[in-house]
Amino acid sequence: MKLKKGDHVIVLAGKHRGETADVLTVLTKRNAVILDSLNIAKRHSKATQAGPNRRVNQAGIIDKFMPIDASDVALWCGKHQGPAKAGYRDDKGKKVRFCRKCGEQL
Ligand SMILES: [Zn+2]
Repeated sequence: MKLKKGDHVIVLAGKHRGETADVLTVLTKRNAVILDSLNIAKRHSKATQAGPNRRVNQAGIIDKFMPIDASDVALWCGKHQGPAKAGYRDDKGKKVRFCRKCGEQL
């Protein structure tokens, strides 16, 4: 598992394919992550504006926190604007993650 909380990732498979989102939680044992998906979050805030219907809002939150297999997402590299294959290298004794494609530190 190379992903960690707060990582910006792109979804590679499933109905949210091609969307980018932030990693909210890493489920190491299941090799899965929970994403703060932008599209679903938008739907959720719309429901909030619609009125004080808390049931609708709760359903939106559950939908938002669906776990996704870690192999179905890739780290987003802001430098080459695409999915990154992450590697690790030693930087003055500190382990840093980097993009294998363009060398950007992630
Ligand atoms: Zn890159």
